[in-house]
Amino acid sequence: MKNIADRLNSVLERIRTLESRYQRPADSVQLIAVSKTRPADQIEQALLAGQSAFAENYLQEALVKIEQLQQKPVEWHFIGPVQSNKTTTISQHFHWCHSVDRLKIAQRLDASRPADADPLNICVQVNISQEQSKSGITVDETRSLCEKISELPRLKLRGLMCMPKPSASLEEQRQPFRQLFQLQQSIVDSGMAMDTMSIGTTQDLEAAIAEGATMVRIGTAIFGERVAKTAAPH
Ligand SMILES: *Cc1c(COP(=O)(O)O)cnc(C)c1O
Repeated sequence: MKNIADRLNSVLERIRTLESRYQRPADSVQLIAVSKTRPADQIEQALLAGQSAFAENYLQEALVKIEQLQQKPVEWHFIGPVQSNKTTTISQHFHWCHSVDRLKIAQRLDASRPADADPLNICVQVNISQEQSKSGITVDETRSLCEKISELPRLKLRGLMCMPKPSASLEEQRQPFRQLFQLQQSIVDSGMAMDTMSIGTTQDLEAAIAEGATMVRIGTAIFGERVAKTAAPH
């Protein structure tokens, strides 16, 4: 098996190749390394190889690693479901939260963001494939939530995020990302500033870059297959 630095470099190479294949500006797609279920020493290997942005889904697990790596220059992204009793901890320890889908959560993150920290960067998670049980706000409610978030002083609205249901073909994978892009464009056209599209995992990286991703969230391609989901509570 290849090591983490090698895997990381092949992912970066692939991103650069896809940027040019789809006429995206060079370096317009940022790699976020999804380190859920991986121990701190694997994050350190990626850090040594030059990666600085890492994403976590499970708060308890993330806090342990944030503590272990507090001397290191890590930019932490929260990408898991946000429970309202966890908002204080998230706004104290993370630089980004990609999974905001309710106003109440946004208000709580805003209220608890430490005064000496920069505003917390926010992506609104959209349930773009309209799945019954999935997290994310509906397409129809997205604009209104974005407007309300942009008025909260301790948050900085950056863009939209989605996690569509898996599909096998590139064309099928591109569809929900294209819908999200169009939704974001329509909101930007009405005067709201957003610069981020957080889309794409190991499975649908190419589709995401083709449709305008500015952040891709990649775990498996960097760290290998996850053995099992962590047993830690969210
Ligand atoms: C786990 C996860 C990823 C990364 O998925 P991989 O298939 O390991 O690349 C990206 N985004 C979210 C929200 C995730 O939960």
